[in-house]
Amino acid sequence: MLSARSAGVPTRAGHTDIRRNNQELVLRHLWAAGSASRAGIAASAGLTRATVSRLVGSLIELGLVEEAGVATGGGQGRPGTELRLAGRHVLAVGAEVNVDYLTLLVVDLANRQVHHWQRPFDAHRAGAEASLAALAQACSSWLDSLPERPAAERVPFVAGLGVAVPGLVDERRGMVGRAPNLGWHDVPVAELLTAELGDRVGPVTVGNEANRAALAEYRVGSHAGTEHLVYVTGDVGIGGGLIVQGRPLLGARGYGGEVGHMLLDPAGPLCGCGRRGCWEAFVGLEALLAEVAEPSAGPGAGESSEERIARVVRRAEQGDATVLSALDRLAEYVGTGCANIAALFDPDVIVLGGYFSAVARWIMAPARTALAARLLASPTPGTGELAVSDLGFAAAARGAATHIVDRVISDPHVLLGTRGR
Ligand SMILES: [Zn+2]
Repeated sequence: MLSARSAGVPTRAGHTDIRRNNQELVLRHLWAAGSASRAGIAASAGLTRATVSRLVGSLIELGLVEEAGVATGGGQGRPGTELRLAGRHVLAVGAEVNVDYLTLLVVDLANRQVHHWQRPFDAHRAGAEASLAALAQACSSWLDSLPERPAAERVPFVAGLGVAVPGLVDERRGMVGRAPNLGWHDVPVAELLTAELGDRVGPVTVGNEANRAALAEYRVGSHAGTEHLVYVTGDVGIGGGLIVQGRPLLGARGYGGEVGHMLLDPAGPLCGCGRRGCWEAFVGLEALLAEVAEPSAGPGAGESSEERIARVVRRAEQGDATVLSALDRLAEYVGTGCANIAALFDPDVIVLGGYFSAVARWIMAPARTALAARLLASPTPGTGELAVSDLGFAAAARGAATHIVDRVISDPHVLLGTRGR
């Protein structure tokens, strides 16, 4: 489970904890601002300049912060040296197992992408163990490609592997309880990957794919920093990730946010979960493909969701009437489901990801109209907005990596136990 600290302002007490919390404040400030002087950080974090100088000194030693040149002075005193996040040697591995693809996405401390690998994969037919073995293989190949000690650089430090899976995830135990679209039950994902990779990747964490994508959206997406944000995945499965007051809302067991299985019509079409009339059965990728008579994107398709939806987009661009009317119907159901979400959470923004981005130009306007028509509260500027993600199908893997970065930022001293790769 995401610790509360990782997402918000730290609150622990005690000397070591205060120091760690203050280091996190400095890192978060640089993360958000891009660059800042010691004086600037001190002013915004409410710390003395001497404290900030000490903290920055140890962060520079760890290679997490670097000096970026002298700031042009604002007229008050001498200009300060600008600082920015460094940490190119700190590598966070994000991964996603989805119905028809595997993704690996590696970022450094400042969230710069350093590696991206994706391939079509039938995780349903392969089963959990073979799917995770394939993922471990991809991870091993990347680890093998890392230089031992690049000239004038630090030894690469792999801070962890975060895995995103579309299903019910017990984060504390690193287990997937149930993933209907993968056909997985009670899979000890962290244990299996650790058995394959040993300590080469550091700790393995597991999270629901929509929750991780929401974290990516909150940290690095076009609505980064929005305190009340809901992310909706658009794939074969429809999932939801909730950020409430700047923190992930996971529920009592971590199973919250399964918006794809909100019931819209008990007599509706069959859903991947075995019930009828869930939101997913109306707006999931399968539903759209079936309606426009494209082959299934599900198990055995051998083609990624991205490729499937690209064909639908081409047909829409050519004015295909079947596709255009299917997109109209889709928009209506997207707006309806989002109205249910808005009624529960009153978010500032609902971000639609995955395949919804590809068809945004046809569905967003009618979906907004459908949403507005079903809202109880009158819309006010800046709230209840419906937006499109620009993180694409890699959002969940990016969020899984971001989750690992958050752990380093929360406790930079994990680096001191320096395990190389
Ligand atoms: Zn369902």
